[in-house]
This record gives sequence, structure tokens and C-alpha cells, in this order.
Amino acid sequence: MSARWGCGYAGRVLLVDLTAGRSTIEPLDHGVARRFLGGRGLNMRVLYDEVTPGVHPLSPENRLMFATGPLVGTHFPGACRVNVSARSPLTGILGDSNAGGFFGPELKYAGFDQVIIQGRAPRPVYLFITDEGAHLRPAEHLWGLDVWETQQAIRSELGDEGVQVGVAGPAAENGVLFAGVFFNLARPAARTGMGTVMASKNRKAVAVRGRGMVRVADPAAFASLVGTADAAIFAHPEYDARRRLGTTRLVRALHGLGCLASFHFRTGCFPGVDRVSGERLAATYRVKGKACFGCTIPCSRFFRIESGPFAGLASEGPEFEGLAGFSSRVGNDDLAVALRAIDMCNRYGMDVISASEAISFVMELGEAGLVSSREADGLDLRWGNANTILALLEKICRREGIGDVLAGGVRRAAELIGRGSERYAMHVKGLEVFQADPRGIKGYALGVAVASRGGDHLRSEPWFELTGDSEEATRRFGEAEAAQRLSPRGKGRLVKYYEERCALADCLQVCKNTLVNMEILPYDQAACILAAATGWEFSEEELQASCERLVNLERCYNARLGLGRADDTLPDRFTREPLPPDSGPSAGSVVELDQMLDEYYLARGWDLSTGLPKGETLSRLGLEISVNPGAAAPGGCS
Ligand code: SF4
Repeated sequence: MSARWGCGYAGRVLLVDLTAGRSTIEPLDHGVARRFLGGRGLNMRVLYDEVTPGVHPLSPENRLMFATGPLVGTHFPGACRVNVSARSPLTGILGDSNAGGFFGPELKYAGFDQVIIQGRAPRPVYLFITDEGAHLRPAEHLWGLDVWETQQAIRSELGDEGVQVGVAGPAAENGVLFAGVFFNLARPAARTGMGTVMASKNRKAVAVRGRGMVRVADPAAFASLVGTADAAIFAHPEYDARRRLGTTRLVRALHGLGCLASFHFRTGCFPGVDRVSGERLAATYRVKGKACFGCTIPCSRFFRIESGPFAGLASEGPEFEGLAGFSSRVGNDDLAVALRAIDMCNRYGMDVISASEAISFVMELGEAGLVSSREADGLDLRWGNANTILALLEKICRREGIGDVLAGGVRRAAELIGRGSERYAMHVKGLEVFQADPRGIKGYALGVAVASRGGDHLRSEPWFELTGDSEEATRRFGEAEAAQRLSPRGKGRLVKYYEERCALADCLQVCKNTLVNMEILPYDQAACILAAATGWEFSEEELQASCERLVNLERCYNARLGLGRADDTLPDRFTREPLPPDSGPSAGSVVELDQMLDEYYLARGWDLSTGLPKGETLSRLGLEISVNPGAAAPGGCS
């Protein structure tokens, strides 16, 4: 089968210069699209080539990119996603975030695989994309509106409820460095401050409406492969639990394992878990299930609070990260308060992980006597105080008082506060870590330490370590203990494997719930579906190498900014302080990071002392670049 451009891929890239107020449409380059597959691959290649170390994240020269993948907009299950990328203002390194919902497919229907935005508009604007290209529309009247109000205002103005909208909320306008781009109200590309970059360009929103369709090269083969994938999803042992509870089931599950982020990682179990679990949420407030475009699980839900101080509050979700973040992490066992906090983050446009870390960080500083109530604007910093949680979110969004200190993330906040507060800041490379305690899941610990966008679990998701399947672990990773979550052994190869699976999901723009956690599409089938969609012949090995190439390119991008092995680290709490006795089956555990790093670098073909790719590794992957730590590499990566 030969490649047919316009199958799978739309074949067009939209370039927007906000300073000049103009846009152009260019064809997507075949060679580039094959080497740097789909959303994350396309964006990363532009980031490497065009956003060199001298480009400040909030300068007009930073690129803000939206890209989909070759399956998006088809009926392949969960092929709905979009990657948003730029240099991050929160971390200073690679910034990237991925969202589901309906925006990605709509962008494909408008005929675009990627949108690259540079410059800064002289006045607030929003970008409206149609099949004909980009239209810049005034947005002074939208500035200051929250995410929900903005989406509704744009849909009303355009007279079309089918327009898909990505919004930077008031937090982004105010310069909160962990503000995201929010799609479909509660489907954010939340991490690494992509909304902050968008607002810095004087751009309030991006809206899209397409009239086209996505063609595939071999419709019969494609339909047959979709049928196989759907059958695998329906037959999966976790199908019912995912459908009923989504990711919220992890609150109780991680508590049971003793590694639920509780009281800012001071322990791995939360005494109030039964009042805030996903099961309690479903029994108390759930109204119905919800799905992203084309999803056959689906894992999302819709809730409504009928009585009490938050009566009338209704929204999609929440996901595990928000639910645990505003319950166990901050020591709050009032479910309605947690739902209100998540709703505030969605409306203001803030990342729930970074926001809940900021609040639990300052609560622990209060307990340790490093920040007084007076310094915190008179707030009561005791764990779980509902008024304090909600007031801090308001203050962070407005950058007011203690909120201004926290709005730059906990790394900066610790620098401002001083007094040894850095040891309480739970971040890696400036990005706040998630709601599971790495001491109880060591593959995840390694994944978070080495992730290309900072303290992030979604770059690897090595869930296999929770299976206990020693036989399969030996077969796949050469080490039986790769399937034991509390063992450091075998985790280097495990994380390498799952990093590439996550890269595959982010390139095809298929949901990680299906492609990574349920593993419904092994590489051989992925190569077949890619061929059926695009007409490209891809071997299993070639596809895996493409994912490995992307991981290496991201490593080179960060190396150029001066990062190496010394930055692949975790907060001291995880490597030096054992989980306390009340952490159930994880009690006493710490992360043996150095041992795991050595194994990981060996598996990757990276230098053990620097943590950077060796020349022979880059050559094998066809990356003709040299790693020169801390200095701008000449030329681009293509
Ligand atoms: S599994 Fe959940 S997050 Fe993934 S596509 Fe389906 S509804 Fe969206």
C-alpha cells in the first residue's frame, strides 16, 4: 500500500503570527510526519528546531502548538486527543499537555493536523479556525471571564453550539504559572502552564469548527481493526470498573496499598477515605456517564450536588488527580468541598495537581512553624480547613497576598519563603508531583524522576508493576521483580517500555486509558492500524523506534537547557524518609533512585554519569544532532 496524503493526516499546518495579525496554511511535510509521528511528535520537532534556549517562555518568540494525530476524528476508540506544547513558564523546560474531549477531532474536520502560533497580539483576541484558515476576532469583552463563561460567549457569538473551544481562564490572564488550556469546560491540557503561554500572547481562546471529514486509506481493513480494538476493550477485566468509576476508583485503591498522597505525603493512608472515595462520589452525586469523542468505555462521569452549601454545583468528572488532590493531599474529608475546589480550578483554568500541591505545601509549612497565619493573610492553615482551601484558590487565581507567592508553583514559592521550605516542595524539575506516593510504587517513582516535562506520571504510567505477575515480568523485562511495586529491580526496562507506549498514545492521540493502561493495541496491531489509516507501511520495530526517537529528542531538548542526571531526582522525602507505620503495606518504604536510574540509562543507551543519550544511540535512531549540555545545539533536528 502506498502513502496517500490526506488519509489519516489532514495534510495541512496552520501558522499564525499574532504580532503581524496574519496566518498562512502550509502542507504537512511527509518526511517529518513519518519521523515524528502525530501530535506530540510534530510539536516536539518544532519546539526543538524553533524554540531555542534563548527564547523566554512568555516572550512572543515562544511557539504555542496544538496538534492531533493520524487516527483522530476516526471511529477508532478514544482517538480524540490533542497535544498543546510550548516552552513551559512553570518549569523553564519542555512544556506539553494533552487533553481529550472533542477539540482534536474538530481540528481535523477543519483540515489541520497542527496549529503553530507565535507573536503577541496588540489587543486581546481569540482565534477562530475553520476549513478556510484562521480568523482573529476581538476578545476584549471576554478578558476576565472564566472558562465556562468564555466558552458560552464564543458559541453564542458564533451562533453555533458545535464550535469546540479551548480557553485560558482568569488565572492565565493573571500570570499564574500553572494555568492550562481548558477544552469542553472540564477537559484541560492542564500541566506545565500552557494556558499561561496562551494568555501571554494576548490570546483568550482558540475555537474551531470543521466541515470536512477524515478519510482512511483502507476503510475495510480499518473497520476490521477498530472492531478488534473494541472487542479487546469490552473483554478487558477492568472494563466495568473503569466505566462505573473512571480514575476515581484509585483513591480507595491507593489508600489500600498505603501510597495515597495524604497530608502532603506525610503518610500513605487517609483516615477519611470512605467519605471522599470514587465509590462514595458515585453513590452520592453521580448523575450519568460521559464520554470523549468516539470512546467506547467511557470513563467519564457527570455529577450534581442537590443540597447543602454547594447545592446546584454540577460538572463533568472529577478525575482522580483532582479528587485526591483536594481531599487526602490537603487533609479534607468533605467531598462537597473537594468538588467545589475542583470546580474552581476548572472555571479559573488552573491545574489541580499544582494547585493542590501549593495548598498542601503551605499547610505543612504552617504546621512546621515556617509560615504563620499572619503571613498567610490570616488564614487558618490547619489540615483540611475548607475555608482556607477555597480562599487560597481565589488568592492564587488573583495573585493576591500569599496567593501571589504560590502562583509561581512550589519551587518558586520555596525560594521566596526560604527558611528551609524547599524540603517541603514536592516537585521535580519545577513540576508538582501527582497524588500517589512514589515510595509505594517505585516504577512510577523512576518515571516521575526522568519524565521529560518534570514531575509527571503520564510520561510512563508503568502500571504493570502493580500486577505481581512474575512470569510475565521475566518474559517482558528479564526481571521477575519488575512486577513487584516495592522492588527497585527491573524498573529501568519497565519504565523505558512504558515511556514508549505513552509516546505512541500521544502521537496517535489515542487515550492512554486504552492504549497504555489496558494495552489494547500492541505494536504490531498499531502498525496495521496506522497503515490502514495513512497508507504507510510501518513495521512493528519501526513504530517502536519512532517512539524511542521522540523520547530521545525530548531528552536532547532539555539537555540543551542544561539538564542531565543531577536533575533526574525526587524530593528528599521520597528518597530519605520511609513511609510511616500507618501507611499499611507500604510502611517503611523509600525510593532507591540511583539504582533504578543506572538500569534505566543502560536500557536507554544513555551515559551513566551524565544521563544524556550517547552518540551511537542518537545515530541508531536517525537523530543527527549532538548533545551539548547547556548550550544551544546548532541547527535543527530534522
Ligand atoms: S477512557 Fe475516559 S478519558 Fe479516555 S477517551 Fe474515554 S472518556 Fe475520554
